[in-house]
Amino acid sequence: MKSTKKDIRALTKEQLRKFFVESGDKAFRGNQVYEWLWNKGAHSFENMTNISKTTRKLLEDNFVINHIRVDQMQRSTDGTIKNAVRLHDGFIVESVLIPTPTRTTACVSSQVGCSLDCRFCATARLKRMRNLNPDEIYDQVVAIDNESRLYHNRPLSNIVFMGMGEPLMNYNNVLKAIDKITSSEGLGMSPKRITVSTSGVPKMIKKMADDEVKFKLAVSLHSAIDEVRTKIMPFNDKFPLSDLREALEYWYEKTKSRITYEYVIWEGINDKKEDIDALVKFCSYVPCKVNLIEYNPIDDGEFQQASNQVVENYISALESRGFVVNVRRSRGKDIDAACGQLANKA
Ligand code: SAH
Repeated sequence: MKSTKKDIRALTKEQLRKFFVESGDKAFRGNQVYEWLWNKGAHSFENMTNISKTTRKLLEDNFVINHIRVDQMQRSTDGTIKNAVRLHDGFIVESVLIPTPTRTTACVSSQVGCSLDCRFCATARLKRMRNLNPDEIYDQVVAIDNESRLYHNRPLSNIVFMGMGEPLMNYNNVLKAIDKITSSEGLGMSPKRITVSTSGVPKMIKKMADDEVKFKLAVSLHSAIDEVRTKIMPFNDKFPLSDLREALEYWYEKTKSRITYEYVIWEGINDKKEDIDALVKFCSYVPCKVNLIEYNPIDDGEFQQASNQVVENYISALESRGFVVNVRRSRGKDIDAACGQLANKA
């Protein structure tokens, strides 16, 4: 039976304090419970050992803790870990732990499925079922932080919103989750270590700039030519590159934070000189760097990674104009944990 009780973690600390005052208890009780929920990650009211039995019963009668559960954890030969995360209503999303010699990065999901229709991405085949709540995003990060401590003997160092979903189509909840992740009442992580990746929703990029967010922005560009981009990312028709450019200029003006462009090079799609020239030009608009991502095949071979020669041509064209380029090798391919492969296949 579906519970009608409210998810206690949807309450702010103030609301929780108010609840206790209205129940004839002290406001301070709200602080204690809040700490259990967020700092100590309590999964049940029973675990709240310094709270009296009567109070725990009161909480039990009024609220639920909609905690995520890691249903299945897969470990890649390269150390990457993929969690299949079960939500309270049975939906599953995936998150990934990516270790390097010096860092552990969490790649988290923001939606069940995705609102967008990128043709090369496995998640796009699952239609968007719902947005994740702030605590569901936060819990994914905590789960990966714990795994990082357990398997790599160090805390999580970075977070990327590059899992399932389009974060800017669930902006409010993503922002609330990041507030919690960066707050001393949550994980106390620096926002500089968090990157939100978007396929480029101009209006929302401007909103983020207005909100003076302190995290970093990555844009999945993949082509700087409208006709090409619309073919592989059909929503580009609604949000053309000129609008994206304008939003990114606005972002940089307000935040002074350099943008990362994610870019996959495919054979026969964006492997020509004019594609390279267009990217070089686009890079001149706003301070940026380019991450060339290796393509992870998702099915029928419609898309294929371009040859190393083409990748080299991109690199030398960009570098000769002074732009920073990184080539990102895929991680966790053997467990379908690499970019664009998250599709609940487990
Ligand atoms: N919706 C957001 C975040 C999720 S995708 C966005 O579009 O940015 C994370 C990154 O993986 C994006 O850059 C996306 O374009 C890329 N990606 C998607 N499918 C891929 C695939 N099959 N191989 C490599 N990268 C892929």
